[in-house]
Amino acid sequence: ADEGPGYVSAIRAAIARRGGTLASIFEGRRRTWAETLERAERIAGGLAALDVSPGDRIAVLSANSDDFMALYLAIPWAGAVLVPLNCRWSPAENDFAIRDSMPKLLFVSEAMAEANAEMLAAWADRLTLVSLGVPRPGWKTLDTLLASDPAPDAGRRGDDLFAIFYTGGTTGRPKGVMLSHAGFTRNCLAMREAGLFPDGCRTLIVPPLFHLAAAAMLTMAMLAGGTAVIAGAFDPAATLQTIADAGVTDLLLVPTMIQMVLDAPGFDAARLSGLNTLIYGASPMPEATLDRIMAAAPHIDFVQLYGMTEVSCAATLLGPEFHQGAHREAGRHRGAGKPLPIAEIVIAGEAGEAVPPGEVGEILVRGAGLMLGYWNQSELTAEALRGGWMHTGDVGRFDDHGVLYVVDRVKDMIVSGGENVFSAEVESVLALHPGVAQVAVIGVPDARWGERVHAVVLPRPGEAPSEEALVAHCRARIAGYKCPRSIEFRSEALPLSAAGKILKGELRKPYWEGRTRNVA
Ligand code: ATP
Ligand code: MG
Repeated sequence: ADEGPGYVSAIRAAIARRGGTLASIFEGRRRTWAETLERAERIAGGLAALDVSPGDRIAVLSANSDDFMALYLAIPWAGAVLVPLNCRWSPAENDFAIRDSMPKLLFVSEAMAEANAEMLAAWADRLTLVSLGVPRPGWKTLDTLLASDPAPDAGRRGDDLFAIFYTGGTTGRPKGVMLSHAGFTRNCLAMREAGLFPDGCRTLIVPPLFHLAAAAMLTMAMLAGGTAVIAGAFDPAATLQTIADAGVTDLLLVPTMIQMVLDAPGFDAARLSGLNTLIYGASPMPEATLDRIMAAAPHIDFVQLYGMTEVSCAATLLGPEFHQGAHREAGRHRGAGKPLPIAEIVIAGEAGEAVPPGEVGEILVRGAGLMLGYWNQSELTAEALRGGWMHTGDVGRFDDHGVLYVVDRVKDMIVSGGENVFSAEVESVLALHPGVAQVAVIGVPDARWGERVHAVVLPRPGEAPSEEALVAHCRARIAGYKCPRSIEFRSEALPLSAAGKILKGELRKPYWEGRTRNVA
């Protein structure tokens, strides 16, 4: 059994050691660390009074807020398992997640209570509903819990189940990932040891807190005894404004968000002047976007993280040094970085054998952050964790400096005329064209080639690049077989997941209606 740290004890120890005064800022409301800890132990007391026992699941359905932050502490404090639900899901999808995770208690924000009224009413006799907003008949409220006597930390640690996080749902129905106390806590500690979220930093939490990346950022802010400025929803102009007004020093944005901030009307790089570190990751970073943000704010330290829900957040980290100088000249800023000390990575070839640097294959990860398994899905778990390694479904390679390059998702690779085309590579090239605002490259059925490289493009406002011009742009930069053979122009933004990833499955769907696509 893992004797590693417990989430709550690690955070409490960190705050006792280095906690500043201010824990959170949300919509103008400021909470101190003393207040935040007291709220957590009272909510935990309230949960105990509702007969919550260790191992019970407690779900949360809410956009980002300081109350959600309190629940990140209170639920594990009570010994229960945190289950954050996706507040962008439809009532039917939430119904599925509730059926899947079977929580004893569900915290619901005001907006989510309204949007899911009927679905929640059907659950009211099978679980306890707790309103984070106004009182509702038959529901508890956060205030009733807060009126309880404080409870001691239940002391869960090591292999004990900390949370079930649903994966991003980028490639299909989200899977519930079981993370342990020690696994998740160690991953956050390892990122801090690598220099992220220094003591006392001030972060802005923009991605939704049901997504593991945001959970890890919030946790690191707590371990830093810093301040979390919490954004209720993502808005490009407001993000920029808050960074300046709230004195944000360190934050994570996914690449699509960075792109939208840069494209926001009236973008003013001066608002970034107080920022020390910008972390990006969760999906491939188009080089054009990285170049633009680095040019706009050259004083910032840029850091990339590569990872996934199944490894408790990050497996590799690309530090600021790789974004400049000789490393940059060697193209290493296009990599995803080196494995964190807690993660071990190999590249597996076709037969599962480890391949040498330079060769591509599936990225396998193991180490302290590895999930305990998928909730309720033993077959998927066995398949994903074959031989004790997480089979990531990502294709990558190492260079001879030990830097990992994420080449594509296996499911997004296009096999055209027997050649493998990596969609992310073609996207990165198309994104360099000044007329392209957003792009996705997908495989569509083709009588001659099996699959054909197809691009879906949203032009920049006022631009109308021709198909010929874009193909010529690609031909000048990559091999002919990788260039799109057809291009579809859109007038609206491409469909994004709640975590800001392009849903290529949705783009592929109309082309594959009635056929099955062979993926490795
Ligand atoms: P699902 O598993 O439900 O389809 P998802 O894989 O998007 O959704 P997450 O666990 O949030 O769910 O995301 C992990 C995936 O995101 C990785 O497997 C990888 O494909 C991609 N990813 C993460 N970081 C990076 C990065 N730095 N560069 C490229 N891709 C990344
Ligand atoms: Mg995944």
